[in-house]
Amino acid sequence: MYNVKSHIAEEFINDAEICDTMIYAREHCNDAELIQQILKKAREHKGITHREAAVLLECEDKDVINEIFDIANEIKHRFYGNRIVMFAPLYLSNYCVNSCVYCPYHVKNKNIRRKKLSQEEIRQEVIALQDMGHKRLALEAGEHPIYNPLEYILESIKTIYSIKHKNGAIRRVNVNIAATTVENYRRLKDAGIGTYILFQETYNKKNYEALHPKGPKSDYAYHTEAMDRAMEAGIDDVGIGVLYGLETYRYDFIGLLMHAEHLEATFGVGPHTISVPRLCMADDIDTTDFKNAVPDDIFYRIVAIIRIAVPYTGMIISTRESEKCRARLLEIGISQMSGGSRTSVGGYVSPESEEENSAQFDVADHRTLDEVVGWLLDLNHIPSFCTACYREGRTGDRFMTLLKNGQISNCCLPNALITLKEYAKDYASPEVREKAEEMIKRLLANVPNEKVRANATKYLAAIDEGKRDFRF
Ligand code: SAM
Repeated sequence: MYNVKSHIAEEFINDAEICDTMIYAREHCNDAELIQQILKKAREHKGITHREAAVLLECEDKDVINEIFDIANEIKHRFYGNRIVMFAPLYLSNYCVNSCVYCPYHVKNKNIRRKKLSQEEIRQEVIALQDMGHKRLALEAGEHPIYNPLEYILESIKTIYSIKHKNGAIRRVNVNIAATTVENYRRLKDAGIGTYILFQETYNKKNYEALHPKGPKSDYAYHTEAMDRAMEAGIDDVGIGVLYGLETYRYDFIGLLMHAEHLEATFGVGPHTISVPRLCMADDIDTTDFKNAVPDDIFYRIVAIIRIAVPYTGMIISTRESEKCRARLLEIGISQMSGGSRTSVGGYVSPESEEENSAQFDVADHRTLDEVVGWLLDLNHIPSFCTACYREGRTGDRFMTLLKNGQISNCCLPNALITLKEYAKDYASPEVREKAEEMIKRLLANVPNEKVRANATKYLAAIDEGKRDFRF
């Protein structure tokens, strides 16, 4: 039944293979020789299989765990350097016909204030986001054929790309909306989306069906096969993830890696990003009702081993996690993070009081984007607002080939510095501006290619003169 290249959900995410892998991992977690072999393979930075990853996750030896963190850190730095790509979610509508038991958008929730942004409200939200300094958004919406049909999403994307306010522009719109048809994915591609993101929530079919009792999302196969349809439609940057806390982490960790292996084997390109959301408190949702909460120490190991198993993927952490947790995750594989996020519909223009809540979940990191940028600079990470790969057509296998050859660092470092400079000039507080300028000066010298360095110097000077270049 297990067939990595099949397009049938239950064949590429095969329950028996996941269960066998869990048993195998338990039986081999003290096999020192095998673990050393897996770590040796991991140190080559070319990935490990879901079985090998499951053994590492099961291993309780402190030295092995530290070695896992070290390798994850090396991989992050080899392929992504110390850049962290910044983004923000934009919630368009919380109308939803589904009944996901962990999500406050579920159809039976009468407490939550239902809201859908008009195009004018989207304009205001986008201006507020541009004024913070954001260039990259992730669109979020509930699933509702009447309130949020695809036409509404497409119109919203057009509106977002059209807004040029002061020196601002949203240069990449990623989209996190419900699974849809090949034809609709083609229309999203034609609208110029960046990554299509869809979380599996859980790969366990039985549990998936219990967690999604009604509505279109209750169809496990349709949801699980969504990325195959998106790729068939020509969207070659797809983002996957599970919602940790719904199912046992062991099951979903293996399922997620099998999904990544399936995409790589079938389409020649793995997931562009992997997100690692954990279940949060929300209106009508109490996390203590769910028995599979993942503690921090296990969560860190999960992130590090995903980094090792899928070395080329971007890894995303949201403001669901606290500053402390995000600081640790930065050291073990994360390459993208949101900052200054609002999870309510219209929240960037008018922050809500608790009583009028339309938010999807309670965030743990409440800092402004400027505070997050300043904090990253203090930790010696480069906050990057770059979207050049997408703009230059470096998506899918073209992006992955460059990344695998280590070439991304030649163009990413200067581009990150150029976009950081734009941020510093246009949006940063004086204190953050000073830190950013200092980092730019220091790191420009590290750009390996002389010609590239000279070019970057030219662009940086142009920004000082008030010019902006929308290619980045
Ligand atoms: N409606 C689309 C769908 O069903 O995939 C878009 C997704 S929703 C706006 C974004 C994600 O938020 C979901 O896929 C889910 O993983 C996550 N989410 C839902 N409820 C959550 C909660 N209580 N805590 C943390 N994340 C949650």
